[in-house]
Amino acid sequence: MPLTPTPFIWMNGSLVPWDEAQIHVLTHTLHYGTGVFEGIRAYPTPDGPGIFRLTDHIARLKRSADILMMPMPYSEDELVAATKQTVASTGLDGCYVRPIAYYGYGEMGLSTIGLKVDVAIACWPWGSYLGDDAVTKGVKLKISSWQRHDHNIMPPAAKTTGNYVNSSLAKVEALNAGYDEAVLLNRAGLIAECSGENLFTVSNGRITTPPLHAGALEGITQHTVTRLLGDMGHEVVEGNLVRSDLYTADEAFLVGTAAEVSAVNSVDDRPIACPGAITTELAERYANVVRGGDDAYLHWVERP
Ligand code: PMP
Repeated sequence: MPLTPTPFIWMNGSLVPWDEAQIHVLTHTLHYGTGVFEGIRAYPTPDGPGIFRLTDHIARLKRSADILMMPMPYSEDELVAATKQTVASTGLDGCYVRPIAYYGYGEMGLSTIGLKVDVAIACWPWGSYLGDDAVTKGVKLKISSWQRHDHNIMPPAAKTTGNYVNSSLAKVEALNAGYDEAVLLNRAGLIAECSGENLFTVSNGRITTPPLHAGALEGITQHTVTRLLGDMGHEVVEGNLVRSDLYTADEAFLVGTAAEVSAVNSVDDRPIACPGAITTELAERYANVVRGGDDAYLHWVERP
């Protein structure tokens, strides 16, 4: 879907007009995938826009940078403030927010030691990533022929731009085969996650989601929905899943900042009851919490 421009993009400390937020073709990260980024959402709430779990997203950005040994030129507090300023500059009630830190123009070659780090924050309006009816209709999953990164190859805990070559290969393969989203297994054959979402199954009342160690990103939505499922009286186990666990699940759902809570209606053409009762209730609760509708979670709704 084409991007919808907003008035400004924050670049290295100032808001610049959208069309002027440009970089050199010899930007280091463009060539070597050495950037780190985040995906955040701002939602309309009764008291104006709220940026959901902004501080936690910026903390993960810092952890990604630490894994790359990338020295962040701004503190986490400064990046939180800059994100708020950028969201406010759009005049929008709700938007997707993309902070990215990258090695800019100046040197080529694989070493990043001593290179200048640039930071940008952009916002744009973006509907639910897997479609606005993903909760009711569900999405079709395909087990990918691509494996998820191994911890000793490309650390999945770091949200680096280079890691998303793996996600993109899997996503394109799934779309071309007529599916909506790909499930990536790790090198041991265990389910890791989807190309841009964490995965949950419900089987005989037991809810399971693969852990970071299986190759999943430590998802902020995964953490949020684990709390919400707890409120609904369900315990979530971080545990190993194999593909047949998905084929036989009573319900399955995907979660992520972009995809929110999306139901799964089939895996490799094996139907799954959709939308399941737990998925439906969870999606409603999530939609309410992110829009500031639940006092117990208002501390996660950060004001620009
Ligand atoms: N896994 C991958 C590979 C992702 O790109 C994302 C989106 N950031 C997620 C999981 C979900 O993470 P979050 O809930 O923090 O958006």
